Amino acid sequence: MRLEGKSALVTGAATGIGRAIATAFAREGASVGIADLNLEGAQTVAKEVRNQHSGKAIAVQMDVSSESSVESAMSRAITELGSIDILLSNAGIQIISPLIEFSFADWQNVIAVHLHGGFLTARTAMREMVASGRGGCILFMGSIHSHIASKNKSAYVAAKHGLSGLTKAVAQEGARHGIRANLISPGFVRTALVEKQIPEQAAQLGITEEEVVKKVMLGATVDGEFTSVADLAETAIFLAAFPSLALTGQSIVVSHGHFMQ
Ligand code: NAD
Repeated sequence: MRLEGKSALVTGAATGIGRAIATAFAREGASVGIADLNLEGAQTVAKEVRNQHSGKAIAVQMDVSSESSVESAMSRAITELGSIDILLSNAGIQIISPLIEFSFADWQNVIAVHLHGGFLTARTAMREMVASGRGGCILFMGSIHSHIASKNKSAYVAAKHGLSGLTKAVAQEGARHGIRANLISPGFVRTALVEKQIPEQAAQLGITEEEVVKKVMLGATVDGEFTSVADLAETAIFLAAFPSLALTGQSIVVSHGHFMQ
């Protein structure tokens, strides 16, 4: 039980990577807040977690791109969980399009969910961590696209690179309050976000769906494998449980070698 006595809030936790990490946090003894735009999905995950593990699990509806939504949902979660020791800012979307055809509305949407969402959730969590004097751990969900670019993903690449900078800023300002900040940067993980992209990329790049998977998504890995949600959960637990400020301001790339630092 590496997170016994801790409270964690995970955004975008109704599905995919967030759901797996929130469940793994609960397995390690943490009380968890399952935050998502999709309240019904969040409630289902919270119920599953309560059935499987002894700790507390609550669902909160949150639009990470809205200041008022983040503040009210996090305030409710903090009241019900008693504190917030770990934040995983994970909610994300992907919109792919060649840059010259990318609409400004789509650009704003991607930036708002990833970057505004990262800032708003981290600011609220940090305020609580500073006020309580307990410090804490802030994790952002980056990507190999925090380090490299790919065609047709300009907004996502810019947003994920931005989260790398935000991680360092939080690490700098959080340290004196005992707050660590790190970025988890996965390679391709076969979630809904990626499934949707396979036919879209095939159409835009003029190749087959099989080629998108083999060449575009996995061609640069060392073994042709997708990264799994279990790999990411293990990384998040390691970072959340890390005992000192020695490990802060870093991007931990979990990608089967797709990107090597
Ligand atoms: P997913 O689509 O399975 O889940 C994303 C979740 O975020 C959904 O539950 C969705 O409802 C929620 N969400 C979307 N907009 C929101 C908003 N405004 N407010 C609150 N919640 C919102 O995606 P996933 O693959 O699990 O991705 C999770 C994170 O991991 C994202 O930040 C994504 O960029 C990142 N990531 C994914 C991959 C991958 O290959 N799947 C790789 C690297 C990074």
